[in-house]
Amino acid sequence: MRQAGRHFLQIPGPSAVPDRILKAIGQQTIDHRGPDFAAVGQKALEGMKTIFKTKQHVFIFPSSGTGAWEAALVNTMSPGDKVLMFETGHFATLWNKMARKIGLEPEFLEGDWRGGAEPDRIEARLREDTNHEIKAVCVVHNETSTGSVSPIADVRKAIDAAGHPALLMVDSISGLASVDFRFDEWGVDVCVSGSQKGLMLPPGLSFNAVSDKALEYAKSTTMPRSYWDWHDMVGPNATGYFPYTPGTNLLYGLNEAIDMLHEEGLDNVFARHARHGAATRAAVRAWGLEVLCARQGEESGVLTAVLVPHGHSADAFRATTLKHYDISLGNGLSKVADKVFRIGHLGDFNDLMLMATLSGVEMGLAKAGIPHNAGGAQAAMEHLKHTTEERFAAE
Ligand SMILES: *Cc1c(COP(=O)(O)O)cnc(C)c1O
Repeated sequence: MRQAGRHFLQIPGPSAVPDRILKAIGQQTIDHRGPDFAAVGQKALEGMKTIFKTKQHVFIFPSSGTGAWEAALVNTMSPGDKVLMFETGHFATLWNKMARKIGLEPEFLEGDWRGGAEPDRIEARLREDTNHEIKAVCVVHNETSTGSVSPIADVRKAIDAAGHPALLMVDSISGLASVDFRFDEWGVDVCVSGSQKGLMLPPGLSFNAVSDKALEYAKSTTMPRSYWDWHDMVGPNATGYFPYTPGTNLLYGLNEAIDMLHEEGLDNVFARHARHGAATRAAVRAWGLEVLCARQGEESGVLTAVLVPHGHSADAFRATTLKHYDISLGNGLSKVADKVFRIGHLGDFNDLMLMATLSGVEMGLAKAGIPHNAGGAQAAMEHLKHTTEERFAAE
């Protein structure tokens, strides 16, 4: 049966695509080797540098974020290389599995899924590695399975404090354009991202931001690679072209997204996400439920993962909420499957959309018989009423 009104896609990616971007994507596909394409390609490549905050290199692939993970590894590594990864959650675990699958030797620093990566433990491990066998440190910026943010600048400091030459590789697939990220200032060597989270696009584009150091280093590595080879991109990219067919229509959308982010101002975008995260946590506290991220200051503005009380099913709750209120919430992944649900509050999102989302969650909790206190949506509203968005000058 038809459900009236708009569906609420409140999973932490894909996020809802704004009309402006849908319209841009709906333009006619052009010849990607013809004269008109150069401006599209150049704007996308240069524009993404302003989002990553880098003056170094950006590569764009027609793939999901997983492809850009692989690109980061196969360009910088040789078979059997050691990489140090930190278990922030499900996505860190998947990246770790990929590293093993393609023939690397990843070492996984165990985590409890309740916070970001811990720089002091990374530093301690690197200090032990006196022969410099570890070639890269890989960390997830915004762990989408748990709703925690890793302190990337501090991970860089930890690597430097250990006097270790390892590259710093960061997955900011769900952090970029939602949570503060500064590629050059923080000394990141490779950042992996994707189109369908903070960038507000449909799935299908992925990114590598790459430092001069990593690009140069990639000339000496021997991992087999073809589709993902950065050095095949460099030549055509210089004039706005790609070595194979790019995702032309998604690039139209990307250029619109870059404009939208700068019209609002990136600092305003980050403040908006942080404020919505805080309001959501106020709701969770009022419900008497627990936020999965347990480390203060590391909570994500992108999503909030909420633990359901012992003996209750988060998935049954999500199914009830979808059925009755037409809202999709994120599921718990692997270790926390059926134990948490995730509220996405990212992308093209405002106060009233958050209020509708939290109302849907609260009505769903009641409908599904999850023990909770009423008044969560009210608590979020109080937070929104009493905090105004800080306004930074647009760019
Ligand atoms: C979404 C996501 C991925 C996976 O990206 P796909 O586009 O699904 O391949 C990896 N890491 C993080 C942190 C993500 O949020």
